[in-house]
Amino acid sequence: MSRYASIEAEVAAVEARGLRRTLRPLQMTGAVTGRLDGADVTVFCSNDYLGLANHPDVLKAGGGAGSSRLISGNRPVHEALEEQLSRLYGRPATLFSSGYHANLALMSTLLTAGDVVASDALNHASIIDGLRLSKAERVILPHGDPSALPSGAKMAVVEGLYSMDGDVLPLEAYVGEHWLAVDEAHAFGVLGPEGRGAAADHGLEPDFVVGTLGKAIGAYGAFIVGPQSLRDLLVSRGRSFIFTTGLPECVARQALAGLALANAERRERLADRVRRLRTGLAELGVEALGEHHVVPIVLGSRTMAVAEKLLARGFWAAGIRAPTVPSGHERIRITCSSEHTPLQIDQLLSALEQTLKELA
Ligand code: PMP
Repeated sequence: MSRYASIEAEVAAVEARGLRRTLRPLQMTGAVTGRLDGADVTVFCSNDYLGLANHPDVLKAGGGAGSSRLISGNRPVHEALEEQLSRLYGRPATLFSSGYHANLALMSTLLTAGDVVASDALNHASIIDGLRLSKAERVILPHGDPSALPSGAKMAVVEGLYSMDGDVLPLEAYVGEHWLAVDEAHAFGVLGPEGRGAAADHGLEPDFVVGTLGKAIGAYGAFIVGPQSLRDLLVSRGRSFIFTTGLPECVARQALAGLALANAERRERLADRVRRLRTGLAELGVEALGEHHVVPIVLGSRTMAVAEKLLARGFWAAGIRAPTVPSGHERIRITCSSEHTPLQIDQLLSALEQTLKELA
């Protein structure tokens, strides 16, 4: 039996009830005209009530989709972006308006009351909210500890790179009979072969991957990769896919441009800067969490004072307080870019050294 038999059955049930939804790309040619499946059409199903989504002034600034992708808001560039992402992963990708929308859809479409889902304690709010919507029974796994994964769980959900701890879990240990969903929001574009994320970096192909286009790719939006049946189900049943306006074309184009530039050269430069920063911190005797481009330094009650002093020296590294992180574990969260120069990294290190001396 296919690993995704239950998803395929649900798609078949949707189809049998005549509720299968399909996307048709509409190329706009004017305010209310376009080309659909090779024919000229006058559009009477958009929410573009004032004709502004394709008004020259709005278009110059970007333009809008005017409605859900399932109505008249599906553009060739959305499909081109999905194709590009599908090629990257070798499996179908479905575009969402944001990572938040993507996680809501993935959790609430695949899980329902009576299902058991295991979720890491530090998972992002969008995963938590998606799981709440699903009504599945949640087993919260201590961060990074898969040993409590219950047998009979339908799915396990983790992040590729945790944004507040900067760590990557032993992802192999989360693979099993159950489905594995990995949210690669902070790893997509950066880690793994061709930037496919932390799971790919571990040689894994999780059942479902969420990636965002608003972080390393520099645009906005997100996607879910999985089997074809998942795409079929998301398009017909994913409420945060169906009931929301398609991404503006300019945003989809931004994402395509970002994807084309998210190359090995940038990834290697970033890895070099991360090494420089982490080595420098170790030389200062400052302990940093994790191992990649998110570099948290736990300073507890000193955190905000350090952040302020760093800012006064011209360096903005976010101070993260409770309740975002547990009280007593407040931290400075430094994030590295491939575009930081070695000099900028060294200057940050000496500003931090000075600051910590002053506050000692
Ligand atoms: N997942 C994770 C792990 C995130 O950190 C974020 C954003 N902070 C999201 C999902 C949501 O992504 P978006 O900003 O595209 O809604």
